[in-house]
Amino acid sequence: MVDSIQAVEGRHTSGLYNKQPITLVRGEGAWLWDERGRNYIDCTSGQGVANLGHGRIEIARAIAEQAQRLITCPETFFNDQRAALMEELTALTPGLERVFFCNSGTEAVEAALKFSRYSTGRKQIVATMRGFHGRTMGALSATWNKKYREPFEPLVPGFIHVPYNNLEAMQTAIGEDTAAVILEVVQGEGGVYPATPDYLLGVQALCRERGALLIIDEVQTGFGRTGRMFAYQHYDLQPDLLCVAKSLAGGLPMGAVLMGERVRALSPGLHGSTFGGNPLACAAARATLRILQREDLPAQAARKGTYFMERLRQIRSPLIREVRGLGLMVGVELKQKVAPYLSLMQERGVLALSAGLNVIRFLPPLVIREAQLDRVVETLEEVLALGPDGAEEQGQNGR
Ligand SMILES: *Cc1c(COP(=O)(O)O)cnc(C)c1O
Repeated sequence: MVDSIQAVEGRHTSGLYNKQPITLVRGEGAWLWDERGRNYIDCTSGQGVANLGHGRIEIARAIAEQAQRLITCPETFFNDQRAALMEELTALTPGLERVFFCNSGTEAVEAALKFSRYSTGRKQIVATMRGFHGRTMGALSATWNKKYREPFEPLVPGFIHVPYNNLEAMQTAIGEDTAAVILEVVQGEGGVYPATPDYLLGVQALCRERGALLIIDEVQTGFGRTGRMFAYQHYDLQPDLLCVAKSLAGGLPMGAVLMGERVRALSPGLHGSTFGGNPLACAAARATLRILQREDLPAQAARKGTYFMERLRQIRSPLIREVRGLGLMVGVELKQKVAPYLSLMQERGVLALSAGLNVIRFLPPLVIREAQLDRVVETLEEVLALGPDGAEEQGQNGR
């Protein structure tokens, strides 16, 4: 069974993914199980999707009920689930009243870029170094990592990248032809770097002063992850366009762009999506928002994130350069490559992500228990104590 599943995927995979040698078949809360019945503490949330945790009956029920009523209904017709979601979602984002629904993060970014150019009549987009915004051609043009970009050039013209958390660079970059600045409040893929409040407020002021729009990409930071419903809500910020996806629909694919007053009215046919705003995803998103609020998961993320980072900072290891993050979006930067340590943790039942070569990224479901976080800390401490040699040896044996 084991061999056959991994062999079949191995034979047919696109080859695009660095696969871990584990076959996951079931989840509950922050637990995941492989096909042999071994359990793992999940600090990946499927790349930041499962904020509510795995195996939520309420989500399953909402999906099942809606699937029996109506799955598909493009936005050319009205729909009860979509209307309700529009109301419930925009209630969480004062000042952002209009919504475009799509199916992924990159599609949300793509739409925000198009709406910005259309709205301002300007061409230039200012993005940041280490920023990640997705893989389609427009979103990729805003993404920084050369590894993702270079094989696909030429990309969309008009994009520039400036250092993150550097207001002077923004001051120079935003000009008369700047349609928008696109920013993550905490850079995720780029290495878990939170923006400073002064920087965010400064960029917002520059955008307003110079007629550019501010796109906040909360595909990863949204829906409670950082300790607020949206990360921008930690600060006195009012984005013009807010991109969300990942955990929006409790695990079903869904993305959205929320728009403020500075975004011009959009006319029929200008942009669109066949699956966007489908009743199935909308019903799942409504159940997701209900749970997020009822269980106050943003507050849980704030509390648990503080506890987790405190405990991580108590680890005595010469290998750790820095522990940083916001809420339950946490990075541990090592002085060396993290890949062998991730493998060692995996062998010990803890799944985590990397963010670049040197950063271990923890994105646990917001429902993770303190005892589970304790075990994550203990496991990290244990594998770091093995040191680089132990890690390489054991990591290789383990694979
Ligand atoms: C994951 C991510 C995206 C892309 O989302 P996809 O659904 O994979 O297309 C865009 N922006 C940020 C900040 C992300 O973390």
